[in-house]
Amino acid sequence: MSAPQSTIAIIYDYDQTLSPNYMQEEAIFPHFGINGGQFWQRCGELVQKHGFEHELGYMKALLDYLEPGRPSNAQLRELGAKLSFFPGIPEMFEQFKHGLLTSEHEAHGITLEHYIVSSGLKELILGSRIEPHVRKIFGCEYAEDADGRIAFPRRVISHTQKTQFLFRINKGMLDLSEDVNDHMPPELRPIPFQNMIYVGDGPTDVPCFTVMKQTGGRAIAVYNPEDKSRASFKKCYQLIAHADRVRHIAPADYRPGSHLRLLLEEMVVEIADDIVERRRSDLAAATVRAPKH
Ligand SMILES: [Mg+2]
Repeated sequence: MSAPQSTIAIIYDYDQTLSPNYMQEEAIFPHFGINGGQFWQRCGELVQKHGFEHELGYMKALLDYLEPGRPSNAQLRELGAKLSFFPGIPEMFEQFKHGLLTSEHEAHGITLEHYIVSSGLKELILGSRIEPHVRKIFGCEYAEDADGRIAFPRRVISHTQKTQFLFRINKGMLDLSEDVNDHMPPELRPIPFQNMIYVGDGPTDVPCFTVMKQTGGRAIAVYNPEDKSRASFKKCYQLIAHADRVRHIAPADYRPGSHLRLLLEEMVVEIADDIVERRRSDLAAATVRAPKH
């Protein structure tokens, strides 16, 4: 018995992919009066002088800065309401529910789901306007102390670890207590890599772009067209021109008719058509195999 494999997944990085800003700068620094420049400098020191991983560096720096009034996870989630996004988000999620998939696709049970895999803070995204539209958000998390204040990293997702979550989505192991390394035959995996589209913005997404490339998935690198320094565009340009990591780059504009939106829509429809085609050939093969009287 094989899985229907009729779900299409778009998986997004968060910072610089769905939002032009870093979530800490938008939701946390203004609320707690933290100087962003000093904060990121401290993170850099932790990484360069003290050997911290990047993500652990910012999580440690944040705890230090918030002392003695560390918030709870619930307070972090409330601050997530301040997050803002590139044009077209979150409206696109709702718009995709109407008319993107044809009635034939829907008759075959094809559905579209959205996931976020971020090295930022999961609680902030959970409190944002995006949350109702996504099936699952994976991000860094803090555990709370006996007083209910964030106290220690509970989960860290570095950019190399992000690929683990592509495999979780592939195998339907969204509960983090399940061991993603357990063997599962390809035909039983709920969302094959060919049904996935990964959207990211730069070098931290390279491991995920590579997984997509090796497994038949699709990927798009996005850049901020408002970035006058062109650093954002150059990151993408390097990925496509010299590193052969992705086939498509586009400005991070998710509104109808934009280059990115056209790419996403074309990819979703192409995957849906492939699923219908696969089902037809499976059905034809099954019909041929049926015993004769
Ligand atoms: Mg990013």
